[in-house]
Amino acid sequence: MNTTKWFAALIGVIIIGVISFAIFHERTPGQDTHKIKVATGFYPEYFFASQIGGDKADVVNITPADAEPHDYEPTAQDMATIENSRMLVLNGGVEPWGVNMQKNLDPNKTLIVTAGEGLETQQVVEGGQSVTDPHVWQSPTLAKKMVDKIERGFVQIDPSNTSYYAANAEALKSQLDQLDSEFKTGLASCAKKDIITSHAAFGYLATTYHLTQVAITGLSPDAEPSTKELADIADFARKNNVKIIFFESLVSPKLSQTIASEVGAETMVLDPLEGLSADDLAAGKDYMTVMRNNLANLRKALECI
Ligand SMILES: [Zn+2]
Repeated sequence: MNTTKWFAALIGVIIIGVISFAIFHERTPGQDTHKIKVATGFYPEYFFASQIGGDKADVVNITPADAEPHDYEPTAQDMATIENSRMLVLNGGVEPWGVNMQKNLDPNKTLIVTAGEGLETQQVVEGGQSVTDPHVWQSPTLAKKMVDKIERGFVQIDPSNTSYYAANAEALKSQLDQLDSEFKTGLASCAKKDIITSHAAFGYLATTYHLTQVAITGLSPDAEPSTKELADIADFARKNNVKIIFFESLVSPKLSQTIASEVGAETMVLDPLEGLSADDLAAGKDYMTVMRNNLANLRKALECI
Protein backbone atom coordinates (compact mmCIF):
# COMPACT_ATOMS: atom_id res chain seq x y z
CA MET A 1 0.00 0.00 0.00
CA ASN A 2 1.44 3.37 -0.96
CA THR A 3 1.54 6.45 1.23
CA THR A 4 -1.58 8.00 -0.33
CA LYS A 5 -3.68 4.88 0.43
CA TRP A 6 -2.36 4.72 4.00
CA PHE A 7 -3.27 8.38 4.46
CA ALA A 8 -6.79 7.82 3.04
CA ALA A 9 -7.30 4.82 5.36
CA LEU A 10 -6.14 6.85 8.36
CA ILE A 11 -8.59 9.68 7.52
CA GLY A 12 -11.35 7.06 7.20
CA VAL A 13 -10.58 5.67 10.65
CA ILE A 14 -10.59 9.17 12.15
CA ILE A 15 -13.98 10.01 10.55
CA ILE A 16 -15.54 6.77 11.84
CA GLY A 17 -14.06 7.50 15.29
CA VAL A 18 -15.53 11.03 15.37
CA ILE A 19 -18.98 9.80 14.26
CA SER A 20 -18.99 7.00 16.86
CA PHE A 21 -17.93 9.45 19.58
CA ALA A 22 -20.74 11.86 18.59
CA ILE A 23 -23.36 9.08 18.61
CA PHE A 24 -22.10 7.75 21.94
CA HIS A 25 -22.28 11.17 23.55
CA GLU A 26 -25.70 11.92 22.13
CA ARG A 27 -27.02 8.76 23.78
CA THR A 28 -26.08 9.54 27.35
CA PRO A 29 -28.18 7.62 29.90
CA GLY A 30 -31.60 9.08 30.66
CA GLN A 31 -31.87 10.90 27.33
CA ASP A 32 -33.80 9.51 24.45
CA THR A 33 -32.73 11.19 21.22
CA HIS A 34 -36.06 10.35 19.57
CA LYS A 35 -37.98 12.49 22.06
CA ILE A 36 -38.79 16.14 21.42
CA LYS A 37 -36.68 18.34 23.71
CA VAL A 38 -38.68 20.91 25.65
CA ALA A 39 -37.46 23.36 28.31
CA THR A 40 -39.76 25.04 30.84
CA GLY A 41 -39.30 28.13 33.01
CA PHE A 42 -40.48 26.73 36.34
CA TYR A 43 -42.65 24.07 37.96
CA PRO A 44 -46.29 24.56 36.77
CA GLU A 45 -45.21 24.81 33.12
CA TYR A 46 -42.95 21.80 33.66
CA PHE A 47 -45.84 19.75 35.07
CA PHE A 48 -48.28 20.73 32.32
CA ALA A 49 -45.73 20.21 29.50
CA SER A 50 -44.66 16.81 30.94
CA GLN A 51 -48.28 15.65 31.09
CA ILE A 52 -49.05 16.79 27.54
CA GLY A 53 -45.73 15.64 26.03
CA GLY A 54 -45.95 12.24 27.77
CA ASP A 55 -43.45 9.75 26.38
CA LYS A 56 -42.95 11.76 23.19
CA ALA A 57 -41.12 14.57 25.01
CA ASP A 58 -38.02 15.03 27.12
CA VAL A 59 -39.01 18.00 29.34
CA VAL A 60 -36.34 19.80 31.37
CA ASN A 61 -37.24 22.34 34.05
CA ILE A 62 -34.80 25.28 34.01
CA THR A 63 -35.49 26.46 37.59
CA PRO A 64 -34.09 23.54 39.63
CA ALA A 65 -35.77 21.82 42.57
CA ASP A 66 -35.60 23.90 45.79
CA ALA A 67 -35.06 27.18 43.86
CA GLU A 68 -37.46 30.14 43.65
CA PRO A 69 -38.13 31.25 40.03
CA HIS A 70 -38.61 34.97 40.82
CA ASP A 71 -34.87 35.41 41.36
CA TYR A 72 -33.34 32.40 39.55
CA GLU A 73 -30.67 33.19 36.94
CA PRO A 74 -30.05 30.48 34.31
CA THR A 75 -26.52 29.05 34.13
CA ALA A 76 -24.51 28.66 30.90
CA GLN A 77 -25.62 25.02 30.86
CA ASP A 78 -29.28 26.09 31.21
CA MET A 79 -28.81 28.41 28.23
CA ALA A 80 -27.38 25.54 26.16
CA THR A 81 -30.34 23.33 27.21
CA ILE A 82 -32.78 26.03 26.09
CA GLU A 83 -30.98 26.60 22.77
CA ASN A 84 -31.06 22.84 22.07
CA SER A 85 -34.79 22.59 22.83
CA ARG A 86 -37.51 22.69 20.19
CA MET A 87 -39.78 24.62 22.55
CA LEU A 88 -39.36 26.82 25.62
CA VAL A 89 -42.48 27.16 27.77
CA LEU A 90 -42.57 30.23 30.01
CA ASN A 91 -45.27 31.61 32.29
CA GLY A 92 -44.30 35.22 31.64
CA GLY A 93 -43.83 37.84 34.35
CA VAL A 94 -42.13 35.45 36.78
CA GLU A 95 -38.95 34.41 34.95
CA PRO A 96 -36.79 37.58 34.88
CA TRP A 97 -34.64 36.04 32.09
CA GLY A 98 -37.60 35.31 29.81
CA VAL A 99 -37.50 38.74 28.14
CA ASN A 100 -33.89 38.22 26.97
CA MET A 101 -34.82 34.78 25.64
CA GLN A 102 -37.49 36.35 23.44
CA LYS A 103 -34.79 38.57 21.94
CA ASN A 104 -31.96 36.06 21.62
CA LEU A 105 -33.44 32.68 20.68
CA ASP A 106 -33.68 31.65 17.04
CA PRO A 107 -37.46 31.30 16.47
CA ASN A 108 -36.83 28.76 13.70
CA LYS A 109 -35.03 26.46 16.18
CA THR A 110 -36.86 27.05 19.45
CA LEU A 111 -40.54 27.98 19.69
CA ILE A 112 -41.33 30.15 22.73
CA VAL A 113 -44.75 29.60 24.30
CA THR A 114 -45.67 32.12 27.00
CA ALA A 115 -48.47 30.18 28.65
CA GLY A 116 -49.66 32.90 31.05
CA GLU A 117 -49.81 35.61 28.37
CA GLY A 118 -53.26 37.15 27.98
CA LEU A 119 -54.55 35.49 31.17
CA GLU A 120 -53.11 38.09 33.55
CA THR A 121 -56.06 40.34 34.27
CA GLN A 122 -55.25 41.39 37.84
CA GLN A 123 -53.00 44.06 39.27
CA VAL A 124 -51.25 44.31 42.61
CA VAL A 125 -50.16 47.61 44.10
CA GLU A 126 -46.49 47.37 45.03
CA GLY A 127 -44.34 50.28 46.22
CA GLY A 128 -47.13 52.66 45.19
CA GLN A 129 -47.18 51.22 41.65
CA SER A 130 -49.74 49.00 40.00
CA VAL A 131 -48.02 45.81 38.79
CA THR A 132 -49.49 42.94 36.72
CA ASP A 133 -49.95 39.77 38.77
CA PRO A 134 -48.46 36.77 36.87
CA HIS A 135 -49.57 33.94 39.26
CA VAL A 136 -52.28 32.60 36.95
CA TRP A 137 -51.54 28.84 37.45
CA GLN A 138 -53.05 29.05 40.94
CA SER A 139 -56.52 29.07 39.37
CA PRO A 140 -57.35 25.64 37.86
CA THR A 141 -59.63 27.33 35.31
CA LEU A 142 -56.81 29.59 34.08
CA ALA A 143 -54.43 26.60 34.23
CA LYS A 144 -56.67 24.90 31.63
CA LYS A 145 -56.04 27.82 29.28
CA MET A 146 -52.28 27.42 29.86
CA VAL A 147 -52.68 23.74 28.94
CA ASP A 148 -54.39 24.70 25.66
CA LYS A 149 -51.50 27.00 24.73
CA ILE A 150 -48.84 24.42 25.57
CA GLU A 151 -50.73 21.78 23.59
CA ARG A 152 -50.80 24.12 20.55
CA GLY A 153 -47.02 24.53 20.95
CA PHE A 154 -46.50 20.75 20.87
CA VAL A 155 -48.67 20.46 17.76
CA GLN A 156 -46.67 23.20 16.05
CA ILE A 157 -43.28 21.55 16.69
CA ASP A 158 -44.45 17.95 16.19
CA PRO A 159 -47.63 17.88 14.04
CA SER A 160 -47.34 14.13 13.39
CA ASN A 161 -48.41 13.47 17.02
CA THR A 162 -51.31 15.97 17.13
CA SER A 163 -53.92 13.47 18.35
CA TYR A 164 -51.57 12.11 21.06
CA TYR A 165 -51.03 15.62 22.50
CA ALA A 166 -54.76 16.43 22.22
CA ALA A 167 -55.71 13.32 24.20
CA ASN A 168 -53.16 14.07 26.95
CA ALA A 169 -54.29 17.72 27.15
CA GLU A 170 -57.94 16.64 27.43
CA ALA A 171 -57.09 14.21 30.26
CA LEU A 172 -55.16 16.94 32.08
CA LYS A 173 -57.98 19.47 31.65
CA SER A 174 -60.52 17.04 33.08
CA GLN A 175 -58.24 16.59 36.13
CA LEU A 176 -58.16 20.41 36.45
CA ASP A 177 -61.97 20.51 36.21
CA GLN A 178 -62.14 17.96 39.01
CA LEU A 179 -59.71 20.06 41.10
CA ASP A 180 -61.78 23.20 40.45
CA SER A 181 -64.92 21.44 41.61
CA GLU A 182 -63.17 20.24 44.79
CA PHE A 183 -62.10 23.83 45.55
CA LYS A 184 -65.63 25.15 44.87
CA THR A 185 -67.24 22.57 47.14
CA GLY A 186 -64.51 22.67 49.78
CA LEU A 187 -64.60 26.45 50.13
CA ALA A 188 -68.38 26.91 49.75
CA SER A 189 -69.26 27.10 53.46
CA CYS A 190 -66.53 28.73 55.51
CA ALA A 191 -66.64 30.97 58.58
CA LYS A 192 -63.84 33.20 57.22
CA LYS A 193 -62.56 34.44 53.86
CA ASP A 194 -59.31 36.32 54.64
CA ILE A 195 -55.97 34.67 53.91
CA ILE A 196 -52.67 36.19 55.02
CA THR A 197 -50.02 34.75 52.70
CA SER A 198 -46.26 35.00 52.45
CA HIS A 199 -46.02 36.61 49.00
CA ALA A 200 -48.88 37.68 46.71
CA ALA A 201 -49.06 34.39 44.76
CA PHE A 202 -52.73 33.63 45.40
CA GLY A 203 -54.55 36.58 43.82
CA TYR A 204 -56.21 34.51 41.05
CA LEU A 205 -57.01 31.67 43.47
CA ALA A 206 -58.61 34.25 45.79
CA THR A 207 -60.68 35.80 42.98
CA THR A 208 -61.82 32.41 41.66
CA TYR A 209 -63.02 31.17 45.07
CA HIS A 210 -64.11 34.53 46.59
CA LEU A 211 -61.33 34.89 49.18
CA THR A 212 -59.43 38.00 50.22
CA GLN A 213 -55.63 37.79 50.03
CA VAL A 214 -53.38 39.96 52.20
CA ALA A 215 -49.73 39.33 51.27
CA ILE A 216 -46.81 40.00 53.61
CA THR A 217 -44.17 40.67 50.91
CA GLY A 218 -46.02 41.67 47.73
CA LEU A 219 -45.37 40.06 44.35
CA SER A 220 -41.78 38.99 45.03
CA PRO A 221 -40.97 36.56 47.84
CA ASP A 222 -37.72 38.37 48.69
CA ALA A 223 -39.20 41.88 49.09
CA GLU A 224 -38.68 43.45 52.54
CA PRO A 225 -41.88 44.87 54.03
CA SER A 226 -41.54 47.97 56.22
CA THR A 227 -42.26 47.90 59.96
CA LYS A 228 -45.46 49.84 59.28
CA GLU A 229 -46.60 47.31 56.63
CA LEU A 230 -46.01 44.45 59.10
CA ALA A 231 -47.91 46.32 61.82
CA ASP A 232 -50.82 46.93 59.39
CA ILE A 233 -50.99 43.20 58.57
CA ALA A 234 -50.95 42.31 62.29
CA ASP A 235 -53.80 44.83 62.81
CA PHE A 236 -55.72 43.27 59.93
CA ALA A 237 -55.25 39.80 61.46
CA ARG A 238 -56.52 40.97 64.86
CA LYS A 239 -59.54 42.85 63.44
CA ASN A 240 -60.57 39.94 61.22
CA ASN A 241 -59.79 37.24 63.77
CA VAL A 242 -57.28 35.51 61.45
CA LYS A 243 -55.89 32.51 63.33
CA ILE A 244 -53.61 31.00 60.67
CA ILE A 245 -50.77 32.89 58.93
CA PHE A 246 -49.54 31.10 55.82
CA PHE A 247 -45.91 30.61 54.82
CA GLU A 248 -44.39 28.86 51.79
CA SER A 249 -41.86 26.07 51.66
CA LEU A 250 -39.14 27.63 49.46
CA VAL A 251 -38.67 30.90 51.37
CA SER A 252 -37.95 31.66 55.03
CA PRO A 253 -41.08 31.43 57.25
CA LYS A 254 -39.64 34.12 59.58
CA LEU A 255 -42.01 36.99 58.66
CA SER A 256 -45.08 34.74 58.86
CA GLN A 257 -43.92 33.45 62.26
CA THR A 258 -43.28 37.01 63.53
CA ILE A 259 -46.83 38.12 62.67
CA ALA A 260 -48.32 34.87 63.97
CA SER A 261 -46.63 35.20 67.36
CA GLU A 262 -47.61 38.87 67.58
CA VAL A 263 -51.31 38.16 67.08
CA GLY A 264 -51.45 34.73 68.76
CA ALA A 265 -52.00 32.81 65.50
CA GLU A 266 -50.47 29.61 64.13
CA THR A 267 -48.61 29.12 60.84
CA MET A 268 -49.40 26.70 58.05
CA VAL A 269 -48.10 26.07 54.50
CA LEU A 270 -49.83 27.50 51.44
CA ASP A 271 -47.64 26.46 48.54
CA PRO A 272 -47.49 28.80 45.52
CA LEU A 273 -46.15 25.87 43.43
CA GLU A 274 -43.34 27.99 42.04
CA GLY A 275 -41.05 25.03 42.63
CA LEU A 276 -41.07 21.77 44.51
CA SER A 277 -38.25 20.69 46.80
CA ALA A 278 -36.14 17.70 45.76
CA ASP A 279 -37.72 15.80 48.69
CA ASP A 280 -41.26 16.61 47.47
CA LEU A 281 -40.42 15.48 43.93
CA ALA A 282 -38.85 12.27 45.26
CA ALA A 283 -42.00 11.67 47.34
CA GLY A 284 -44.10 11.85 44.15
CA LYS A 285 -45.78 15.19 44.91
CA ASP A 286 -47.02 17.17 41.92
CA TYR A 287 -49.26 20.11 40.97
CA MET A 288 -52.44 18.16 41.79
CA THR A 289 -51.34 16.80 45.20
CA VAL A 290 -49.92 20.16 46.32
CA MET A 291 -53.09 22.01 45.26
CA ARG A 292 -55.17 19.50 47.25
CA ASN A 293 -52.92 19.99 50.28
CA ASN A 294 -53.39 23.76 49.88
CA LEU A 295 -57.16 23.22 49.81
CA ALA A 296 -57.02 21.14 53.02
CA ASN A 297 -55.01 23.89 54.77
CA LEU A 298 -57.33 26.63 53.46
CA ARG A 299 -60.31 24.68 54.82
CA LYS A 300 -58.69 24.55 58.28
CA ALA A 301 -57.68 28.22 58.25
CA LEU A 302 -61.07 29.44 57.00
CA GLU A 303 -63.05 27.08 59.25
CA CYS A 304 -64.99 25.49 56.43
CA ILE A 305 -67.59 22.81 57.01
ZN1 LIG B 1 -44.59 34.38 42.99
